[in-house]
Amino acid sequence: MTDALLVIDMLNDFVTGEIAAERAERIVPTLERLLPAARDHGVPVVYANDAHLPEDFELAVWGEHAMKGTEGAEVIGALAPEKGDHVFEKRTYDAFYGTGLDEHLRSLGVDRLVLTGLHTNMCVRHASASAFFRGYDLVVPVDAVDAFTETDHRRGLAYLEEVYGATVTTADDLVAEWEAADARAETEAAE
Ligand code: ZN
Repeated sequence: MTDALLVIDMLNDFVTGEIAAERAERIVPTLERLLPAARDHGVPVVYANDAHLPEDFELAVWGEHAMKGTEGAEVIGALAPEKGDHVFEKRTYDAFYGTGLDEHLRSLGVDRLVLTGLHTNMCVRHASASAFFRGYDLVVPVDAVDAFTETDHRRGLAYLEEVYGATVTTADDLVAEWEAADARAETEAAE
């Protein structure tokens, strides 16, 4: 399996701004560990960020948020993209729709997508659907995604498991898996 780590909508407006969820800050410490671990293990870190234009359909539901070019649409400082990361702007719930994300993941040889960020039952779910339709395996660290309420979060997770066959894990277990894979590769290289 070749993984990529997708970070969805960890933006100022989602964490502290226009449509802030109180629970969004709970996953920040997990992501502060998980993102550097991914980079250390050669797992591409890919951001899918709302960058809305005034015409976007979604604004009728949510009002203005994460408008393209504003501070609200920037990734929170603690999780800012680093050199070598990849950033995609999106105009819907779906990280794949009209963004070029699929082509990018394929060029990297990715066949398993790790989904993190906000919200378990909305953008994470829609990115999962699109990834599933395109043949990717899905992994969701339960402590690296969240939603507005515990019920939304739990229902979102259950849906990902039932409908897309997503593997639900934890950030620590996932990092342990990357470490084991690296150790195996080193042993094989030494033989
Ligand atoms: Zn949006």
